[in-house]
Amino acid sequence: NELLLEVDDLHVEFRTSDGVASVLNGVSYSVHAGETLAVLGESGSGKSVTAQTVMGILDTPPGVITGGSIRYRGEDLLTATSERRRELRGTEIAMIFQDALSALNPVFTVGFQIEEQLRVRQGLSRNDARKRAVELLDLVRIPAAGRRIKDYPHQFSGGMRQRVMIAMSLALDPDLLIADEPTTALDVTVQAQILDLLGEIQRERRMGLILITHDLGVVAEVADRIAVMYAGRIVEQADVHELFSSPGHPYTAALMDALPRLDLRGKTLETIKGLPPSLLDIPPGCPFHPRCKRAEQRCSEERPSLHRLGFGRVSACHFAEEVVGNRG
Ligand code: SF4
Ligand code: MG
Repeated sequence: NELLLEVDDLHVEFRTSDGVASVLNGVSYSVHAGETLAVLGESGSGKSVTAQTVMGILDTPPGVITGGSIRYRGEDLLTATSERRRELRGTEIAMIFQDALSALNPVFTVGFQIEEQLRVRQGLSRNDARKRAVELLDLVRIPAAGRRIKDYPHQFSGGMRQRVMIAMSLALDPDLLIADEPTTALDVTVQAQILDLLGEIQRERRMGLILITHDLGVVAEVADRIAVMYAGRIVEQADVHELFSSPGHPYTAALMDALPRLDLRGKTLETIKGLPPSLLDIPPGCPFHPRCKRAEQRCSEERPSLHRLGFGRVSACHFAEEVVGNRG
């Protein structure tokens, strides 16, 4: 499968009046065509920033990319002109946001917004753009697409609006799609429908998909691989089945213990004690050590490097080999 995106040792800081926040501290990952990578993390873990840097929409300032590289099909995005970045947005790399209502323009019909893109960026005639827009709404299973195309964003339910967003992101036929918490604002049933739809479209078009989420439950069905982020680092990266059958990092294990499970109904779930650290003040040693049940003296002193646990699998824990062997 073709390698689409390669992020290598990316460092991002936010220079704020309170000091320098280390938002990304050496993040590396890659996405191939036809593959879904889930980037999982609590809020403030840096997961959205990983997407914003790829899209070229990071707020600078306060954000500053201080190291590393981002390559799309071999092309260095960090040295590309802003014109080139704009050209890539939409046609090659598209993004879906959590809040469809604020991403869509309230004063235009959804049809107009999709047609505009097709006319301006692909030079379609008014008629062809209209036809294509209806096809796209059909594709994301909006009933009576031919009629709904004349509706305004607020006339759609939350779930339907998210479908409109997906249709819009597909208008220019991107090869890489980034979805930042695309279902967080929706209720559980609608979430599942939207994720199924995304997964289906991704497979049909053989797109690369980066799914950013704070919800481990969401990723199991859709993702091929998972990158778990904590304090601006990827602490574990693994194939989804391997990760669920035997987490290779205590943080991943703790997230899994906090997942509601049918077979444990009625039992209280184990939540992770404490809060993620402020990125202005990341603890020394392993950033997870103040919350880690397994922590030893060494953990507060020595920063763990990435241990290889097998093909394409890494964990940033001093005891990664023991942790991964502990389950089965
Ligand atoms: Fe826990 Fe230590 Fe591993 Fe960090 S390095 S996850 S503190 S055991
Ligand atoms: Mg976010």
